[in-house]
Amino acid sequence: MTDIEPRTDGGLEWTYAPAPESRAIVSFEERYGLYVGGETVEPRSGEWFTSASPATEEPLAEVAQAGPEDVDLAVGAARAGYETWSGLRPSERAKYLFRIARILQERARELAVAESLDGGKPIKESRDVDLPLAAAHFFYHAGWADKLEYAFPNRRPRPLGVAAQIIPWNFPLLMLAWKVAPALACGNSVVLKPAETTPLTALLFADVCRQAELPPGAVNIITGDGSTGAELVRHTGIDKVAFTGSTEVGKAIQRELAGRGVPHTLELGGKAANIVFEDCALDQAIEGIVNGIYFNQGHVCCAGSRLLVQESILEPLLGKLRGRLSTLRLGDPLDKNTDIGAINSRAQLDRITELVESGQAEGAELYQPACELPERGYWFPPTVFTNVAQSFRIAQEEIFGPVLSVMTFRTPAEAVDKANNTAYGLSAGVWTEKGSRILWMAARLRAGVVWANTFNRFDPASPFGGYKESGFGREGGRHGLEAYLGFEG
Ligand code: NAP
Ligand code: MG
Repeated sequence: MTDIEPRTDGGLEWTYAPAPESRAIVSFEERYGLYVGGETVEPRSGEWFTSASPATEEPLAEVAQAGPEDVDLAVGAARAGYETWSGLRPSERAKYLFRIARILQERARELAVAESLDGGKPIKESRDVDLPLAAAHFFYHAGWADKLEYAFPNRRPRPLGVAAQIIPWNFPLLMLAWKVAPALACGNSVVLKPAETTPLTALLFADVCRQAELPPGAVNIITGDGSTGAELVRHTGIDKVAFTGSTEVGKAIQRELAGRGVPHTLELGGKAANIVFEDCALDQAIEGIVNGIYFNQGHVCCAGSRLLVQESILEPLLGKLRGRLSTLRLGDPLDKNTDIGAINSRAQLDRITELVESGQAEGAELYQPACELPERGYWFPPTVFTNVAQSFRIAQEEIFGPVLSVMTFRTPAEAVDKANNTAYGLSAGVWTEKGSRILWMAARLRAGVVWANTFNRFDPASPFGGYKESGFGREGGRHGLEAYLGFEG
């Protein structure tokens, strides 16, 4: 819906009327215990913390802070759950996964609203991306559950046991699905720890498991901060670790696991190059650039945070990009017209602010469209830096916010050199009309995923993961299954 409002110069301007999604569909409990062995239990630690909405700072629910004793109970419940779950016929396991997938679809609106409330992301993203993809991951893996012998012929796949899974706050329910669906399909049980700022959809997922009558102990969910995650990784009763989060914590986990023989996969940070050639379809590329860095406020591991533009089209591209930025709507995550929601936490806002200040101090030129920020909550306007040198912190460090660093190149070889000049290697984008150039670039870019004439495309059948400091192991597809299986011989 649109309204016509008078402009200060006397003309008229089209603006958007508020289109809020109703939050009445979600009712959070006042307090959530831990989900262990199919039951909700009070934390032995006796400690609780509050999860709040980053858009309003309003407290949403109290959540248990799992301590060492709680972690131990959860791992014990997962061990018992593993005995039952791994003993089921694979087609039975598939049945439960299909049920979960369908319940996620049935409860999609409720879960999308909960995700936007707890994490601050725009409802149109949680509704159109997070939820459909989360359900798709369960459908996809339900299909594999009784076909593992065909996925890995002559290798006799078997489950690993209890999988410890730790996830970040940027795609809470989707990261849960990426972890839980393949683990269960392969016959493992799970202890999952969601991030401190976004635990609520994982706790609603516990209810989905109940509704699906999942055998007790197959999925266990323990909330808490980083110390809970560290305790889980330290526990000697786990058989596998799957971690998605920062490179720094990934390294700490790897140190902890060194010499213990526990297989692990690490999905870590990124600093992707989005590479735009002069022969591209420019308007399409602009959409890809915007989607690449402003989707989910830039809280995306594979965000196209470095824009590499062929020098000959820099000016027209920047002109169009500025024009497009002025149309982005920032504000209430529950408004269906919102493009840019809230920054996930005060700590993340401080980190973005600090890095943006470093960019200015190092000499980059900052551009932000006129944009009003709400008074309460955590917000950052869409930002573009030009005059960026490769050595600047904003070109090297992951900002994990709506901040784009623009650099130029002249030849394809220079584009490859600049794109690969990073400690990370998670994703990249290439925009050109030439198919041969796409293949030439893709073969040389050291990134787990290379998108061509598109960006941020995901499918459960397509493996996702990094090189170098972006981690190792793949999630999705047959490669993703392999990370949850042992093989004979
Ligand atoms: P983070 O600080 O590493 O946290 C990730 C998870 O680990 C959270 O649940 C966190 O708990 C927990 N944790 C913290 N310290 C721990 C420790 N010492 N041992 C075990 N667990 C610990 O990362 P984040 O800031 O939440 O997420 C952003 C990062 O995730 C970015 O770097 C992003 O690129 C990366 N990411 C990667 C992918 C991928 O697929 N490659 C996908 C999404 C995000 P608390 O929440 O309580 O701190
Ligand atoms: Mg929250």
